[in-house]
Amino acid sequence: MSEKAVKPAKRARTEMPVQPPFVRIQNYLEVALGYGEAEAMAEASRCIQCKKPGCRQGCPVEIDIKGFIGKLQQGDLPGAYKVLREYNSLPAVCGRVCPQENQCEGMCILGKNPEKTGGAVAIGRLERFVADTFAARLAGGDAACLQITGETACHMSRDDLKVACIGAGPSSLTVAGYLASLGIKVTVFEALHEVGGVLVYGIPEFRLPKSIVRREVDAMRDLGVEFKTNWVGGKAITVQELFDEGYKAVFIGVGAGLPQFMHVPGENSIGVFSANEYLTRVNLGRAYDFPNYDTPVFKAEQVCVIGGGNVAMDAARTALRLGAKKVSIVYRRTKSEMPARLEELEHAIEEGVQLELLCAPLALNADENKRLVSMTVQNMKLGEPDASGRCRPMPIEGDTRDIPCQLVIIAVGTRPNPILLEATKGLALNKRGYIEANPEIGETSIHNVFAGGDIVTGAATVISAMGAGRKAAKEIAKRLLGAEA
Ligand code: FAD
Ligand code: SF4
Repeated sequence: MSEKAVKPAKRARTEMPVQPPFVRIQNYLEVALGYGEAEAMAEASRCIQCKKPGCRQGCPVEIDIKGFIGKLQQGDLPGAYKVLREYNSLPAVCGRVCPQENQCEGMCILGKNPEKTGGAVAIGRLERFVADTFAARLAGGDAACLQITGETACHMSRDDLKVACIGAGPSSLTVAGYLASLGIKVTVFEALHEVGGVLVYGIPEFRLPKSIVRREVDAMRDLGVEFKTNWVGGKAITVQELFDEGYKAVFIGVGAGLPQFMHVPGENSIGVFSANEYLTRVNLGRAYDFPNYDTPVFKAEQVCVIGGGNVAMDAARTALRLGAKKVSIVYRRTKSEMPARLEELEHAIEEGVQLELLCAPLALNADENKRLVSMTVQNMKLGEPDASGRCRPMPIEGDTRDIPCQLVIIAVGTRPNPILLEATKGLALNKRGYIEANPEIGETSIHNVFAGGDIVTGAATVISAMGAGRKAAKEIAKRLLGAEA
């Protein structure tokens, strides 16, 4: 073969092995199985180690992507992990759920001309491979991995410097991991009984196994982070009380988990759920593992999920796995305007989820026992683009139809939960009810109170929440440690 023919960039992206659709809808195990060593090395070898790598600019936490793939190309897995961990405290999570196609992979030079290059380097898949393989080798007592873990741990504990995080989602976990690695004592107060935020209560096991989140959280415990679960900030403890107890700074990372409803007639019928409640019952309550866990979850033969984002995809695919015969996603625009990740939409369709496009719920119809029997929808057409750039859905006058269903799951967005916000005097909120925070350092209107993640931006992504946590953590470290930070 000529040298040109073996140029790494000419090969197509290495496929990710997945469970076949007809198998995976009968279990709750992870759909994507992850690269083996040969696949990872093949994919890593496609990276051409650009002089000016675009991939890094596309990453909200600016991971040295070229650097970690370069180490992998040399066969130095512990070294690759070390580079990743320098920027990202949850690499196994991000490798699975980040929308890489719009971030690092969207900026990879090889993605610019996919016909010639085979497409962007599969950075997320490589990140997942490095994180998982490192964890497996560490558990097996691999000396090089143990050494890396020892090097990244802080050996000087500063118990006099205490920081509190409220909420235990990816933003707070990033703050906790960063500060703990500098020896600062961090306590995380979480309202639920498990740590991880949406990573444990929202994203289903078949996309992100809870054992992966637990592994990352355990690594933080090993760094000295203390987690206090079943603590509702604003009720069990206030921000002022935390300062009175000696905490030097407080980070608010409570997400935006209050579900929005549609306000159509019949929304209180039996069989109507917010996606938040439905997914929480299944994920946090382990309803998918019935009868080993006895959390009740509503089951039905015909299910409609309202919305077109990742949350709607997760709810629809969960309902299929819980035994529904027909699951439809009801969306008022067309497939191309759906905000869900393409991969999630494709997986949902492969599994048999149907799309009811260009229609919007008008009423939820119940029988005499208040049990849902159908949904009346208004048929729509696309009009001119709105402020978001997407075509505005317009009702077609007089054109309605009924869709039979016994379960409707509403996934049309969320709002901030007011409990902590109302209990924190002097905390400035914006017009939409989210916390106002300095975009550079994350500080709120209250000195040494920081905030980040969905409670500042509205529903966004895991990595953007982590990026905000990292900025706030850096500033907190600077204030607490001065020149040492
Ligand atoms: P959260 O993850 O929301 O965590 C906030 C935590 O604070 C929760 O544990 C909550 O219980 C706790 N809390 C709330 N109020 C209080 C209080 N008063 N006191 C104490 N604790 C409190 N993003 C992606 O990048 N990729 C995906 O594939 C993806 N899929 C998603 C699927 C679903 C179903 C959902 C709902 C979201 C998804 N997202 C995805 C979005 C992503 O999960 C969020 O943007 C991210 O988790 C926000 O992180 P956070 O730290 O701001 O808050
Ligand atoms: Fe490698 Fe793509 Fe980054 Fe270039 S832009 S260094 S090819 S991952």
